[in-house]
Amino acid sequence: MTIRYSDFRSDTVTRPTDRMRKAMAEAVVGDDVLGDDPTVLELERLAAQTMGKEAALFCPSGTMANSIAVKMWTNALEEVIVEERSHIYNMESTHMTFISGVTPRPVRSERGAMDPKDVAAAVRKPNVHTPQTTLICLENTHNNWGGAVIPLANFKAMRAVADEHGLKIHLDGARIFNASVASGVPVRAFADEVDSLQFCLSKGLSAPVGSVLVAGRERIEFGRRLRKALGGGMRQVGVLAAPGILALTEMVDRLKDDHIRAKTLARGISGLPGVTIDPAAVETDILIFGFDHPKITVPVMVTKMKEQGILALAVSGGIRMVTHKDVGDEDVERAIKAFKEILG
Ligand SMILES: *Cc1c(COP(=O)(O)O)cnc(C)c1O
Repeated sequence: MTIRYSDFRSDTVTRPTDRMRKAMAEAVVGDDVLGDDPTVLELERLAAQTMGKEAALFCPSGTMANSIAVKMWTNALEEVIVEERSHIYNMESTHMTFISGVTPRPVRSERGAMDPKDVAAAVRKPNVHTPQTTLICLENTHNNWGGAVIPLANFKAMRAVADEHGLKIHLDGARIFNASVASGVPVRAFADEVDSLQFCLSKGLSAPVGSVLVAGRERIEFGRRLRKALGGGMRQVGVLAAPGILALTEMVDRLKDDHIRAKTLARGISGLPGVTIDPAAVETDILIFGFDHPKITVPVMVTKMKEQGILALAVSGGIRMVTHKDVGDEDVERAIKAFKEILG
């Protein structure tokens, strides 16, 4: 007998919908490196319009989109301000140094929102010893801060700091639609405060592959050359842009269901022995909670959950679970029941 798993490891595990698979099969395609795949052009037009920017670039992954963004805004011998727990700094295999030849300058934060005073204090003027700061990277929602929404006011404060010091801002908006749905702030309002942003189609929005980088036309044209140089130029890739279009047009509103389920899960397990979680702090689809039990270590707990059909990820000092389209109310109930059986 094969066990059915409720997969809470990440929203990246979402499968494309039936409508996405049909759109993939029927997509009109061209050669996107030659610039004539109509489905890619349509996705890029839609993404740029949604974000209120001039142009967009379809990329194979969020990591490549972020890599291109850093490279297109910086030169060697420069420095980039990053939040200390950010994905771009911790989870993207050092592309800032590897590809762009710039140093990241981590700044601490409160739940992912850096204090504008700390950012201003981290800006360096170049001299023979030190790099020049030229870019600030933001992240919304903030993955490693448990899907926290960075408020629009913080973006405006960052814009003021950037303008004062002549810096650009790139937003890693892998889950910007989650931030928008949870806060009621349109994605465009966040986009208005930054010079470029990338968002993922392949997470809660359920497309199989891809991220889109948006910015001004001239920077995106340069970004297109960088994408080719990094090996990200793809040919009949309308088959992947087609589900991306549906991700944007059909999959955004339902993110609110993921947020409700994440809260239900948090409420269901808070107070169990070893679990430290504040359900009020769960704002979107990601739960990261402390786990410290006298008899059960984190890896053992994750293994016991797997035996009960619940997949989660061990992180330092705790466990990470993410709700998404392919885990429904019954999966959340099942997870809560498994926690109670193991810990109760
Ligand atoms: C997933 C993610 C990315 C990019 O991920 P890829 O797996 O490269 O598509 C970037 N930033 C954040 C915050 C993410 O969660």
